[in-house]
Amino acid sequence: MSIHGKNFIGNELSALGDKSNKIYDINSNEALEGDFFHANKEEVEKALKLASDAFVVYKQKSQIQRAEFLETIIEEIMNLGDELILRVMSESNLPRPRLEGERGRTIGQLKMFANLLREGSWVEASIDTAMPQRTPLPRNDLRKMLRPLGVVSIFEASNFPLAFACAGGDTASALAAGCCVIVKAHSSHSGTSELIASAIITAVKKCNMPTGTFSLLHGSGRTVGQDIVMHDVVKAVGFTGSTYAGMELFKLANTRKEPIPVFAEMGSINPCLFLPSSLKDTKKLAAIYSFSITLGVGQFCTKPGLIIALKSPELNEFKKDLALEITKVKPATMLSSSISKAYDDNKNEALKLKGISLLSSAEEDNLKSQGKATIACVDASVFVKNPDYQEEVFGPYSLIVECENKNEILEVISSLSGQLTATVMGEDNEMEEYSSHIYALENKVGRILFNGVPTGVEVCSSMQHGGPFPAATDSRFTSVGTGAIKRFVRPVCFQDCPRSLLPLELQDKNELNIMRVLNDSNTRDAV
Ligand code: NAP
Repeated sequence: MSIHGKNFIGNELSALGDKSNKIYDINSNEALEGDFFHANKEEVEKALKLASDAFVVYKQKSQIQRAEFLETIIEEIMNLGDELILRVMSESNLPRPRLEGERGRTIGQLKMFANLLREGSWVEASIDTAMPQRTPLPRNDLRKMLRPLGVVSIFEASNFPLAFACAGGDTASALAAGCCVIVKAHSSHSGTSELIASAIITAVKKCNMPTGTFSLLHGSGRTVGQDIVMHDVVKAVGFTGSTYAGMELFKLANTRKEPIPVFAEMGSINPCLFLPSSLKDTKKLAAIYSFSITLGVGQFCTKPGLIIALKSPELNEFKKDLALEITKVKPATMLSSSISKAYDDNKNEALKLKGISLLSSAEEDNLKSQGKATIACVDASVFVKNPDYQEEVFGPYSLIVECENKNEILEVISSLSGQLTATVMGEDNEMEEYSSHIYALENKVGRILFNGVPTGVEVCSSMQHGGPFPAATDSRFTSVGTGAIKRFVRPVCFQDCPRSLLPLELQDKNELNIMRVLNDSNTRDAV
């Protein structure tokens, strides 16, 4: 399939705008196929009108029909074959095994939501039948369930060009919820977005979903992205990326005549508390943490960016071992030249802060746009005084905070802003001694984990990927796992509603049970 560089306005390709951009292979500097035409105002308007009209029809599709639609998207993504993998490799510089794994995760997410729809109980249907004879007042017939919000605007993430992108978790959960979706393509992997969008559009047609159920628009976030978010038919936004852009969209959405929720996952330094008992085998710990800090060139939102520990001879050993491990990691090309530049700039700014000392840095290599792994350390007494030490450095950088005593550890934890994750390393008996520290950490995060590393986010019902601000704009929700669907629905109560107008799930208590049994028999393997 050739790359057109056009927008998908509903099911049609369109390129009416007078602006376009090309994408270059970061290593060879060769232009990749496709000149990506930015959507103009007319195209944005048309895509949103189609989505608004489509929503009226799409929301009435049964959960089984929506499940079949998601499963058809899976088939069509797989039909793209190696062309998809090759294109993402050139656009993202990520290696084949990582991208094949990410395609697997993307498909797994779609399947997880299809399974959720087939099982059906996530809609929280609740039926209180009428009690006309009740005294002193009769009771009305009341039925409530979760219903889709409407049209949802999704911004793709650069660091997961498949799993947090065009058909990623945000899109999958919004479509599963019964919402229509407008994706703003990420300008660093627009060809990948177009291929995936073509798979979704084929599925729209095959499953007889209304035109406008899905659209893909190219263009700058500041223009096309903001125009979408400000449009009155849009009812929610899903975003993963920088704090700056996430906050701009969040503030903008709140200036609308009708403010809407912006579910933005923005940044996190993922503090790791090393209790003294964790420092028995410092070589092993250093190897594990060096791997996690440098995994994917540190371009994961769950990268361990902060290590908190008590000063001790064992900590000094660990610092030496980690310094050595880091120098062994070969620098690798980052996602884009702009992300690589941002990494170097932010790291240099961090290293200039008062009291920070450089522990070690990976060897120089000759290729451009490489992320050199770097470890620094600072005294806790300095760290707690200035929030600048907590700025996320997106890339393979981590900071060790050295504490004099247990109280100082608590002060460091109290000074932290909201995070996606926190990790506690240590033996069980020591965990109790530090329980107040651990509960203080829990207040700051969406996921707290023990004796592991924060990188690696399982996609399942029990996952929470989100956290208190500024890690995310709404800590009550998650962007990973089945719970992600809850961002795009709201409860609606139907009072004395004629049976023929009721959603299927609310028609009858018995039918609800029968439907669950039927759906259960169709449920496929869990992801
Ligand atoms: P980004 O700059 O935040 O861009 C993400 C999306 O938002 C893109 O589609 C972008 O559009 C759009 N956008 C940017 N500025 C906007 C604005 N003012 N108004 C509306 N939309 C806007 O993120 P990125 O390009 O993926 O990476 C840049 C930095 O973000 C990284 O260096 C890293 O610090 C951070 N990041 C963090 C995470 C995380 O998980 N915590 C993930 C990825 C990135 P265009 O660029 O196409 O104009």
